[in-house]
Amino acid sequence: MEEKLARRRRVVLVPAPAQGHITPMLQLARALHFKGFSVTVAQTKFNYLNPSTDLSDFQFVTIPETLPESDLKNLGPGRFKELLSQLLVNEEEEEIACVIYDEFMYFVEAAVKEFKLRNVILSTTSASAFVCHFVMCKLYAKDGLAHLKEGDGREEELVPELNPIRYKDLPTSVFASVECSVELFKNTCYKGTASSMIINTVRCLEMLSVEWLQQELEIPVFPIGPLHMVVTAPRTSLLEENESCIEWLNKQESSSGVYISLGSMSLMETKEVLEMASGLVSSNQHFLWVIRPGSVLGSEMSEEELVRKMVTLDRGYIVKWAPQKQVLAHSAVGAFWSHCGWNSTLESLGEGVPMICRPFTTDQKGNASRGGPRKKINWGQKVANEV
Ligand code: UDP
Repeated sequence: MEEKLARRRRVVLVPAPAQGHITPMLQLARALHFKGFSVTVAQTKFNYLNPSTDLSDFQFVTIPETLPESDLKNLGPGRFKELLSQLLVNEEEEEIACVIYDEFMYFVEAAVKEFKLRNVILSTTSASAFVCHFVMCKLYAKDGLAHLKEGDGREEELVPELNPIRYKDLPTSVFASVECSVELFKNTCYKGTASSMIINTVRCLEMLSVEWLQQELEIPVFPIGPLHMVVTAPRTSLLEENESCIEWLNKQESSSGVYISLGSMSLMETKEVLEMASGLVSSNQHFLWVIRPGSVLGSEMSEEELVRKMVTLDRGYIVKWAPQKQVLAHSAVGAFWSHCGWNSTLESLGEGVPMICRPFTTDQKGNASRGGPRKKINWGQKVANEV
């Protein structure tokens, strides 16, 4: 009898075009590839990640659409449908097992539905932030989230549905009004035909939120993170990593320095940068500081010139972008001054580096309350089994 060759199975992954979303999606890609799946990554032109040799196992395709940076809500499923139909041409040899899309790329669901493909949502923020998005939509429908409006004076009050979170801790954005944020969350909190949701979190950190979401969405919710500890993380930086800071750290004593990084999107006023520099100088600690180009507002000097004016460079080292996971794992780093993005929080918790929290916006305010334990958490084998 003629033996039928087993068809290979492919997953199509659709990350949102931001550093903190691309990285966990590609870590998931690596885990799925390790399990025997072929992987296609559908990227936007905006914030396009140039596939490195490290990512050569994956197929990269471009969604033929120019994503307006701040205008996710105007994205439609049209061009993604086009792309998907091209990928389906090879179905004979390789079945598409499912499409996994970032919660913020919700328009993918409508396209996938049309082709009757299985689809799964990946949340790259914490489960608690996702719960807050749901509750904000409900509160907005009830009273327009009046407590969040300036001058209401009740920002310190606890949100009854989310005790102990205060109104001012809700994940609103400095980049958008409350109304716009809620509009976005209405879309991201809609499961549509998704068969399940994957969250880059750890059950023991967020058990209640995971259970809450499972009940609300009525689909299985899998906390499979921290993804960077489940697989050997591939290189996914949009900016070039300056490796020289590792050599600098090699010369420092154990736990002697502070690592400062405020993520890929935070913007700071010159005044605050100068305050930080002055505090660091008077602390007498060594420090490694990431200052992203364009991240300091209201200064005619370049960021580097600005800080050099304040900083004694034999105690400080400044780079535009660092290999953060390597930095946090370095024995010379004793503390992490962070904006508390969810990836940075997980990376810091994973290495047991205490955090000095300076949240700016969105979920960072909630993440800040988690801080970092002083002892390294050994999640390794446990989470590897869950994937
Ligand atoms: N990151 C990095 N080098 C840096 C600063 C940040 O590799 O100099 C990485 C960091 O390891 C994390 C991501 O960028 O994986 C930032 O994601 P996060 O969710 O912490 O913050 P966001 O940039 O989304 O605000």
